[in-house]
Amino acid sequence: MTVGTSEAAPVPIYDGHCHVASTDFIPTEFIEDVVGNVHRRLEAEGVAPRRSRLVDAYVAQHQDHHADQLVKEMDASGVGRAVLLVPDFTLRMTAPLSIEEMARRHHEIRLRHPGRFWVYLGVDPRRGPEGVDVFERLVGTYGFDGLKLYPPCGYSPSDRALYPYYEVCAALSLPVFLHTGPTAGSLDFAPAHPLNVDQAARDFPLVDFVLGHGGVTHVDVAAYLAAFRRNVYLDIGGFAGAATPGGWPAHLRHLFRLGLNHKIIFGTDWPLNRMSGGLGRLIEEVVHGPQVLAGLPHRERALILHRNLLRVLPARSRPVPVS
Ligand SMILES: [Zn+2]
Repeated sequence: MTVGTSEAAPVPIYDGHCHVASTDFIPTEFIEDVVGNVHRRLEAEGVAPRRSRLVDAYVAQHQDHHADQLVKEMDASGVGRAVLLVPDFTLRMTAPLSIEEMARRHHEIRLRHPGRFWVYLGVDPRRGPEGVDVFERLVGTYGFDGLKLYPPCGYSPSDRALYPYYEVCAALSLPVFLHTGPTAGSLDFAPAHPLNVDQAARDFPLVDFVLGHGGVTHVDVAAYLAAFRRNVYLDIGGFAGAATPGGWPAHLRHLFRLGLNHKIIFGTDWPLNRMSGGLGRLIEEVVHGPQVLAGLPHRERALILHRNLLRVLPARSRPVPVS
């Protein structure tokens, strides 16, 4: 699936950062944290509904248990494929499913929507050696495509406990996608600073590390890491919420002109932006809007919109060979 550009051939669009919008995978505690900040803003503006009603509205948005709605939105927006991220919150929040159950469910989603999804599976490193075995077994059983880390749960991405996971990733050519920057208010922000990846990135030069939200928060640090560490990439997931005075199109326009387009991976962090107009509007603005990609060479658009993602994925996961 492709969306035409003003020049040359159409460029496929692959989304490197999505979640299944389901309370089976995203703990209600996480949703309540998010709602807390939304409620605080609405309260200040004098238009806040009861907090419980707001929670109900968000929970109602997280009932896409089989990703059917996501696939519909991808179809309507011209997004051919997407990465589903499966963070392991289970040591910090009450989660309805175990890692094994979440893995199986994501496998079923892939079977239900063939050729549409890659999956990066998360395991909290504090699960110890048993966690490494679980990760290796599930990746082997289901053919998942990467490791997802959530440092705000309370660990650094350079924690030695993660090194056995990185050995597995190095052996299987799997990328490591780690959340950076702020998140749910009950979690830890300090371990989510992008510089925490530095030691791991140096110790595992054969593993590609993708800084989740790296093109949105702490951009100065994330950008120099991507520029100077061969194996560090930037994700722009959540860009529509970028806290920037010129609006997100101006932010992305600037980001895409830093000489880093060989390291930037397009991602929306759907369903995060579902509340603000949906995928279609975002993709239209990115691909055809007057600011974001306007004037960039076809080759660089292709890098951002799909080629960089394909480069970090293991060869077996790529629909077409990339050089
Ligand atoms: Zn996300």
